[in-house]
Amino acid sequence: MAFEIHEECGVFGIVNSKNAAQLTYYGLHALQHRGEEGAGIVVRRHKLHIEKGVGLVNDVFNAERLSRLTGSAAIGHVRYSTAGGGGIHNVQPFLFRTLKEDIAVAHNGNIINAQQLKQTLEEAGALFHSSSDTEILGHLLSRHKGTMVERLIASLKYLDGAFAFVILTEGALYGACDRYGLRPLVLGQMNDGAYVLSSETCALDLIGAKYIRDLNPGEIVRIDREIHSCSYTKDTHHAMCAMEYIYFSRPDSVLENNNVHSVRKLTGRILWNEAPVEADVVIGVPDSSISAASGYAEASGIPNEMGLIKNKYVGRTFIQPTKELREQGVRMKLSAVSSIVKGKRVVLIDDSIVRGTTSKRIVTMLRHAGAKEIHVRIASPMIRYPCFYGVDTSTKEELIAHLMKIDDLRDYLEADSLAFISITGLKQAASTSQGLCLACFNGDYITNHITINE
Ligand code: SF4
Repeated sequence: MAFEIHEECGVFGIVNSKNAAQLTYYGLHALQHRGEEGAGIVVRRHKLHIEKGVGLVNDVFNAERLSRLTGSAAIGHVRYSTAGGGGIHNVQPFLFRTLKEDIAVAHNGNIINAQQLKQTLEEAGALFHSSSDTEILGHLLSRHKGTMVERLIASLKYLDGAFAFVILTEGALYGACDRYGLRPLVLGQMNDGAYVLSSETCALDLIGAKYIRDLNPGEIVRIDREIHSCSYTKDTHHAMCAMEYIYFSRPDSVLENNNVHSVRKLTGRILWNEAPVEADVVIGVPDSSISAASGYAEASGIPNEMGLIKNKYVGRTFIQPTKELREQGVRMKLSAVSSIVKGKRVVLIDDSIVRGTTSKRIVTMLRHAGAKEIHVRIASPMIRYPCFYGVDTSTKEELIAHLMKIDDLRDYLEADSLAFISITGLKQAASTSQGLCLACFNGDYITNHITINE
């Protein structure tokens, strides 16, 4: 099976603000960790105007480019792409200039029936400008009549998979979530009354907006001076991506009333209960495993030390688009602190093992730095199945936990012991969540279209 389009992105939108583009720029900075390969902003000044490019938010937007974006409402997007899905044509938002009005769309997620929909639309005469599945929504909208909300209701019903959309028209800002709530989208408000939509609450905090609430699965909001809400389907249930808690979201963000740092810390405490080990020092892999490491250390009484230092100016390994770039990224991004690990029994806490490349290199690095024993503890269950909902956990043939049993994996990593948090433990850590997608751990896909042969 081919898995061409995988992306984990960040979306942001604001309406009724004098500084819509500037605040969107700040919002995208706060969401930069969700995608480092492209960024774009569309602003409303009567019609819609767009600026976008390949690279980090700072690379794409300089002062001169931002100054061109004046208006009272804006949406923005940061993007991660696979090797086949990169390039300026796939950088969002997408802007559709229709006879009736301009429509801009930014999307986080993955439409799993995209190929089928594209084929149907192309047979009906649609021309696609990108290989992104997001463009499908624009074509679906253009084929329906009525108000924008009516057209959205009619269009979203065709889409299966994961989506959090922010959409800007000449009349209003819209947000829409898939029926499972796989991708987070939160609503906030500024002191001056401007409303904000964002993938994470950390962007609200950065611009001084107050969190109002999460959007519900299947919900559409239309925001102008007020918020109007409806659903495109009654067939909904909560299944937030568990990887949002484990890896993607920033620790200061709040998901479903859970502070992400607190959930991660709890995974560390639970890991200690499930897989204790005698050791001298606990070391978390920076940055996303620091919270879990503090939980493990607190629960065990073993000192938590900074035994690995991250070079902040190298991109995240997991979300680099090619194998070569990922391997280069691991070599460049971490250093072991010999004075902390030399002669010690180390508990190494990491958030996940996907392909195994990073974990193996870190274990080797700690050995070279003089660690006597290395006990690897992972704050997510074994990732044994691919994700089809927009997270690049790769094909199952590349997932090391799919290929190896835990003892073989321990030997491959050259660790002294290896343990993963159980699925029950993870659920316990995110206990106030209304429901989690756990498909990459247990193969239980929430949509109907997917079956995996063992
Ligand atoms: S399969 Fe895994 S990565 Fe994908 S949405 Fe579900 S929990 Fe998240």
